Amino acid sequence: MSHLDLSRIDLAFGSHLVVRQLSLQLEKGRIGCLLGPSGCGKTTVLRCIAGFERLAAGEIRLDGEVVSTPRHMLPPERRRIGMVFQDYALFPHLSVADNIGFGLRRDSAAVRNARVDELLALVGLAGQGRKYPHEMSGGQQQRVALARALAPKPSLLLLDEPFSNLDVELRERLSYEVREIIKAADTTAILVTHDQHEAFAVADEIGIMHEGRIQQWDTPYNLYHRPANRFVADFIGQGAFLRGKVLDDHRVQIELGVLDSTQPLVCCADCAGCVHGSPVDVLLRPDDLVHDDASALRAEVVHKAFRGADILYTLRLAGGARVLSLVPSHHNHAIGERIGIRLDVDHVVTFSDERADECA
Ligand code: ATP
Repeated sequence: MSHLDLSRIDLAFGSHLVVRQLSLQLEKGRIGCLLGPSGCGKTTVLRCIAGFERLAAGEIRLDGEVVSTPRHMLPPERRRIGMVFQDYALFPHLSVADNIGFGLRRDSAAVRNARVDELLALVGLAGQGRKYPHEMSGGQQQRVALARALAPKPSLLLLDEPFSNLDVELRERLSYEVREIIKAADTTAILVTHDQHEAFAVADEIGIMHEGRIQQWDTPYNLYHRPANRFVADFIGQGAFLRGKVLDDHRVQIELGVLDSTQPLVCCADCAGCVHGSPVDVLLRPDDLVHDDASALRAEVVHKAFRGADILYTLRLAGGARVLSLVPSHHNHAIGERIGIRLDVDHVVTFSDERADECA
């Protein structure tokens, strides 16, 4: 049985259904993430899990216990859930140590102090317990907030946009640290974010949300390489759709030639099925296109974004279609240059035409 199990939950604000038939399962010790655009319902799902919202339908189980149904709600304080928010929500008048020990007030001073020291060390702030929140940087305050949430050994940790108030560089560093800390504490957690880099850095598995539904719950690799529908394909990473025609189980004809995949063609999970001979859209990721001077296939550089280690090129094909190509930055070409390209794909994801609207 999963540690956290949401089964077909609905949540409405008045007549507005903001969570629709949403299901997800998370095993003990795993870090899940709800990722999606603003307003898709991520925070509302977190609030349902925490026990702040009453379900209109469905059921939530935590550690085998039914904690929410439309008729039954275990109070939030009895769910053993720790929460970390965007704004840290530390008590400004309490020292860092007292903030971390806040949830341990029923324990003896000796037990509490030992646990606080353990948590300070875990989040890399050993010896800083006497400071006050205003004496710490944003990143340090967020680590204190994490330590406070972990101190009572919660059954589940919920993190709602925990890095939003931090600058980009710190966000990246802290997101890796937070993952390490959660794993070291052996805690099950759910992160909510609209930032896919953050989701990839922290989570083991990610649910892409759109209009109150999970479009795909999967590993980062599968979300990028095996998107279940066009929304996921567009939301995760970059890429271009090229018109094509399925030739057989492995091959599809596109403007660039015949794509011959080492693995069977993958029709997007939510599509009707990409049968032989049918017109399809083929997803090409920027890393599927490599530069190759020897190739007869030519494309014109129309834009380049230098990113340090690599360059993201926008290329125009002979037929006018534009594709993206991500290559190491020593492949340095000028705008207007015509370069040789080659497709380097071991698998191809196709999207059937006739269900395009439903897939979108
Ligand atoms: P963001 O990334 O911007 O925080 P989100 O994906 O977390 O967005 P939610 O905050 O869950 O989205 O909101 C989902 C929808 O529910 C939105 O349309 C929002 O306006 C609506 N909503 C949220 N809370 C309430 C509320 N208390 N009363 C009425 N509508 C609400």
